[in-house]
Amino acid sequence: MSIAENVAQIRERMNAAAIAAGRDPKEVSLLAATKMNDADRVKEAVAAGVDACGENRVQELVQKQPLGAYEGVPVHFIGRLQTNKVNKVVGKVDLIESVDRLELLEVVNKTALRLGVRQDILFEVNIGGEEQKGGFTPEETLALAAKMGDYPGVKLCGLMAIPPISKKKGDNCKYFEKMRNLFIDIREKKYDNVSMVCLSMGMTDDFEDAISEGSTMIRVGTAIFGARNYAKT
Ligand SMILES: *Cc1c(COP(=O)(O)O)cnc(C)c1O
Repeated sequence: MSIAENVAQIRERMNAAAIAAGRDPKEVSLLAATKMNDADRVKEAVAAGVDACGENRVQELVQKQPLGAYEGVPVHFIGRLQTNKVNKVVGKVDLIESVDRLELLEVVNKTALRLGVRQDILFEVNIGGEEQKGGFTPEETLALAAKMGDYPGVKLCGLMAIPPISKKKGDNCKYFEKMRNLFIDIREKKYDNVSMVCLSMGMTDDFEDAISEGSTMIRVGTAIFGARNYAKT
């Protein structure tokens, strides 16, 4: 199957999941998780109508962006971001989805102020409480959202989560539901410098469940591009 055919099929599944949940399909956008795919394949996905692209690694972002890989759609950073590489990302991407620790928030804020830009960000939440994963706890997320007025270089636009790997359909619904509740809690508080518009959750194996539970953006790699060959790198 071609990338275009895959995207068309995902769109159909997204629409069906939204309608089954009583939601407007237009509320959910499709981000292509482009890691390990070259600029030409990324362009194919953009031409096929994905709404955004997401990169995991700074090195891939700086390689593909000058080649016009993302032209026509916003590009997001979605991977673990080292503080010493923040200057290569701030102002270069439309959204950093993976702000997962206080130190990173502070460096992103400072860098944006120095560059004279306002960087849109999401907080990554470790919703499964997994030790090996980055991300704020729900409690930390709430507390930090209340303090966003102290970080004028950024704007908090929502939340992102990568729940535990699920063994079967439905396994992650409980995590997605927790995320939705946290998202709504923060939105209702109307904190300074916070505009909760993006709830980024759902990947190849669980995006329909994520849509049922309120996701506004799914991040899909494998179902668009096929399996990644990690042996090559
Ligand atoms: C790779 C990746 C995805 C997409 O994963 P698939 O299971 O291939 O759809 C989504 N989000 C992040 C942060 C990723 O690194």
